[in-house]
Amino acid sequence: MDITAKYIKSTFYSFIVMTAKDSKSEDEWKQKLTKEQYHVLRLKGTERPFSGKYWNNREKGVYYCAGCGGPLFDSNAQFESGCGWPSFSVPISDKDVDLQSDLSLGLKREEVLCNKCGGHLGHVFDDGPKPTGLRYCINSISLDFIPEDKKD
Ligand SMILES: [Zn+2]
Repeated sequence: MDITAKYIKSTFYSFIVMTAKDSKSEDEWKQKLTKEQYHVLRLKGTERPFSGKYWNNREKGVYYCAGCGGPLFDSNAQFESGCGWPSFSVPISDKDVDLQSDLSLGLKREEVLCNKCGGHLGHVFDDGPKPTGLRYCINSISLDFIPEDKKD
């Protein structure tokens, strides 16, 4: 096999590996998400405190991932933390979220990601209420809220 054929073959295989992952390309995400959603979900940005649409939401319902539509948090787990972002003591299921250690900003934090699409949701801190003692501090823009009475 000559060098060109080898190159084509290896490029072909890396293409297969890339597309085998169950995720969209960054271009596809850019098309699907608003500029603000893309900044937070894909570039791990953070919305300004008290600016999001859900930090003060008192309605009953379920929060879904704005990226892929997967269920993430129930309003029953939401509490008033005063931090300016919607705060939850626990996700609907541990399987729905992925935690990764985040050392950016010179801080040691646990990043919260959607397990299904890998979108950045926020961070989890250990100053939440009992019994979990956890505070999932989540960007409103990463979430889509569906009120209980609007579900069919
Ligand atoms: Zn998702």
